[in-house]
Amino acid sequence: MSEVDTPLVSIVIPVYQEEENVQVLCARLLPVVRALDAAAEVIFVDDGSRDATLALLLAERRTSPEIVIRSFARNFGQHAAVLAGFDAARGKHVVTLDADLQNPPEEIPRIVAQLQAGYDLVGTIRQDRQDSWFRRRASRIVNAMTRRASGIQLHDFGCMLRGYSREIAKTLAARGESHTFIPALAYVYAKNPIEIPVAHAARDHGDSKYSLLRLFRLQLDLLTGFSQAPMRLLFSMGGVVALAGVLLGLVLFAMRLFHGPEWAADGVFTLFAILFVFVGAQFFALGLIGEYVGRTLGVVRQRPTFILRDLPDDGADVVDEAPAAEGRSIPAREAIA
Ligand code: UDP
Ligand code: MG
Repeated sequence: MSEVDTPLVSIVIPVYQEEENVQVLCARLLPVVRALDAAAEVIFVDDGSRDATLALLLAERRTSPEIVIRSFARNFGQHAAVLAGFDAARGKHVVTLDADLQNPPEEIPRIVAQLQAGYDLVGTIRQDRQDSWFRRRASRIVNAMTRRASGIQLHDFGCMLRGYSREIAKTLAARGESHTFIPALAYVYAKNPIEIPVAHAARDHGDSKYSLLRLFRLQLDLLTGFSQAPMRLLFSMGGVVALAGVLLGLVLFAMRLFHGPEWAADGVFTLFAILFVFVGAQFFALGLIGEYVGRTLGVVRQRPTFILRDLPDDGADVVDEAPAAEGRSIPAREAIA
């Protein structure tokens, strides 16, 4: 079991309410992991699931020593879960993967091969994507906006089947930005990134954990987390709107001179319309500034990104070898990372 003690590859998998997928996932993933030419650990981060997910994972761990489990006390989101996995990872290479089998585990060796070849970030482009038309459309818009806003020229930001060097994973975990879009943030730290095409499958069981609202929040994270573009846009938009207002005022004034006060009285409602445009623009601006202020506040407060719960007999295999020394050290790991 010494190979598991110093794994070269850490597979990080966020899991939330995936009771229907856990067993199939393990059945497909573990043979792939064992066939790797390097020792590997599989880190499942249970994102506060309320179904049988955690129990199933604990059961899997009994027979598979390479499985490591971390569990959140409640739902903190996929990105917090991935960061917790990065924090726990001991491998030189780290690979992330979704639990719903939309990312085929069979692709892992190809990603590990790229990491071993010296790339520190392996992105992926989903081929023949198996999501709804609406979801694909939304993704395309998100990808295009992200490319523009962040200046990061990636094809596919959404696919979570990715490889990271230890340095990048640890840096991301240490920063602990909770409102963060990991694939994009990783590129900020990458020195030698590459993108490879991977297969994509439809979700067999369970539903996507992302509602339209959550997707929108993610997009907002992306936009405010990576660029000042919205503020700049607002600035120039505000300028243009104000200038247009002044010009319109001048036109109205000139028309009044030409056509007399009767004509101008009819313009009262035009002025109302202009006023509404201004009021609307101001609210829009305030909302957006509020978003930035809110995020700054979040960082300043330094709240934990996640809180772990203690698990029964974690690290049992280690205790076999050194019962006295090991004790509670693994389950009692710092609750706040
Ligand atoms: N997930 C998570 N916490 C959440 C939502 C999702 O850990 O709050 C996990 C989920 O279990 C899955 C992965 O993140 O392993 C991707 O979620 P999902 O398949 O629902 O997203 P989609 O494929 O629709 O983008
Ligand atoms: Mg999915």
